[in-house]
Amino acid sequence: MTAGRLAGRNALVTGSTKGIGLGIARAYAREGARVIVNSRSEEDCVRTARELGEAGVPIAADLSRTDEVRRLAREARAAVGGRIDILVNNAGQPRVAPSESLPEADYRYTMDLNLTSCLVMTQEVVGDMLAAGDGCIIHVSSMNGSVPFPQRLAYCVSKAGLNMMTRVMAIEWAARGVRVNAIAPGYVETDFIKNLSARGVLDPARLARRTPMGRIGRPEEIGEVAVFLASSAASFITGEILTADGGWSAYGYL
Ligand code: NAD
Repeated sequence: MTAGRLAGRNALVTGSTKGIGLGIARAYAREGARVIVNSRSEEDCVRTARELGEAGVPIAADLSRTDEVRRLAREARAAVGGRIDILVNNAGQPRVAPSESLPEADYRYTMDLNLTSCLVMTQEVVGDMLAAGDGCIIHVSSMNGSVPFPQRLAYCVSKAGLNMMTRVMAIEWAARGVRVNAIAPGYVETDFIKNLSARGVLDPARLARRTPMGRIGRPEEIGEVAVFLASSAASFITGEILTADGGWSAYGYL
């Protein structure tokens, strides 16, 4: 039998070929879970699944589209030959624009990917969890779910919505064995941050200075938080928005 804190569990981690999702997928595989790896690129999914060895199962899908979300859920269940025990809704992207000129299409895309896909994906897998009286759902939110940044209207609204979605789902399903929590990362070193830095939207050195720990986070650090929340160590935790930001949101100066 496989050893590890998640041995024998089937996990679906959306957006897991890069960044935080990859950090979570690697940590889950190390802990003995079978991991469905997803992003829009078939090639990236296959490469990442291979890296995870026997644990990895690749399924490409574009989660900004509801039909694709449903297909991913269907194929994931078929691939593991049963139910998904752990769902991590991680895929998400920012759109940066002044609120007065944020294109409606960008607003809608952000909501579709960062918020609606999390609802639909959860609906697709939670039926099996409720029937079994066992399951764990983790939404990857952001410190921007509670801390507003300029020019991130759609992103901040989607993550604030995700925090409330977490709490409502948690209280509805708490007595039926399904725990629902969110992780709210601060800045973490991923392509997401690299792209914004390359466009001059972010200054990584300034972000590190602004963070009480003096650095931004690493994807594997969020992976450890996701292992904890999915493990039996968190058996009495539901409806929690767990912040992992090196002290950013606790700091009130500048
Ligand atoms: P990333 O851009 O490095 O990786 C995102 C992953 O999602 C990739 O695998 C990408 O292929 C996939 N993805 C993107 N759009 C997709 C789509 N339409 N369908 C399917 N997959 C898609 O991003 P990241 O920084 O790792 O962010 C992951 C999550 O963490 C996001 O929800 C983001 O909002 C959140 N987050 C990130 C930070 C940070 O500083 N990096 C901070 C707070 C929250």
